[in-house]
This record gives sequence, C-alpha cells and structure tokens, in this order.
Amino acid sequence: MEWLQQGAGAFGRDKAVTRAAADAAKIVEIGGSRSGSRTVSRVEADQYVADLERFIADRKEALQTAQQQRAEALAHVVPTCPHCNVTRRYAGRRMLQTGNKVGEVLFGEMLAVSNVATEVYVCPTCGSMELFLSRRSTRCPGRRRDSVSPRWRRAA
Ligand SMILES: [Zn+2]
Repeated sequence: MEWLQQGAGAFGRDKAVTRAAADAAKIVEIGGSRSGSRTVSRVEADQYVADLERFIADRKEALQTAQQQRAEALAHVVPTCPHCNVTRRYAGRRMLQTGNKVGEVLFGEMLAVSNVATEVYVCPTCGSMELFLSRRSTRCPGRRRDSVSPRWRRAA
C-alpha cells in the first residue's frame, strides 16, 4: 500500500507522499478475490486500513480465546483408567519417538525418527498408560525444555 497525492508528481503523475499529505492510495493485493493493484480515494484507503486492523484484532482475539479454552480444558484433564475406574497418576513428560515408513526408506531407521513430547499418566492398579501430547510441543518452541506448567502438576 502506497499513499499518493494525485497529479502532484512530474508530468501530472501521482506522487508518493506520507499518509498525512495523501489524497489517495495505491493498494496492491496479492491473492484473494481482489488480487491486483488499484488506486482508491483517501477515504476508501482509510476505511481499508481500518478494516484490516479490525480483521487482525478479531483474529488475534479468536486465537487467544481458543488457546485459553484449550488450556482450561487440559487443566481439568484427570484421566481415569477404564479398566479399574481409578484416577491415573501423572508420571512425567517423556519423549516419544516416532518414525515414518517413507523416511525410513530414504534415510534409514535412525534418521527417520523424530521426538514428540508427551505427558504420561499411569494407572496405579493395572499399569495401563495414557499419553497426551505435551502442550509445549504445540506452543512456543522457545520455552525451556524442562519447564512443566503448574496446571499439569495440579492435574497429577
Ligand atoms: Zn487400571
């Protein structure tokens, strides 16, 4: 997006100016139904920017709501053993090694393996286990490896 003053440039062309001085704007969209370049009035451009900002804010809010709902749901997870009908005990985080057949063929068994962080719950009576994908592996990868969120501890 480029702010313009129409007819102010050389040979009556539009001149690129700051937003404050602009009376029009060139909007370039890539992809989508309005893909391409178009020049619109200042009022339309301001509306366009406002729409974009609202769209971004809405999306951010929706994302935060979804994350919070997921965290709340997980906080209440206290798995029960279906065989013994007792609460499973939290047994810590383990790295689960997964492989895939295509990778095995291409790189050999050792290199086709990847680690998946899982939260392990064990039944104290029969020893059956339940695995949950660690929240860390679906969130920020920059977090400390050994940090266990307090919510998980409480659920244990
Ligand atoms: Zn059991």
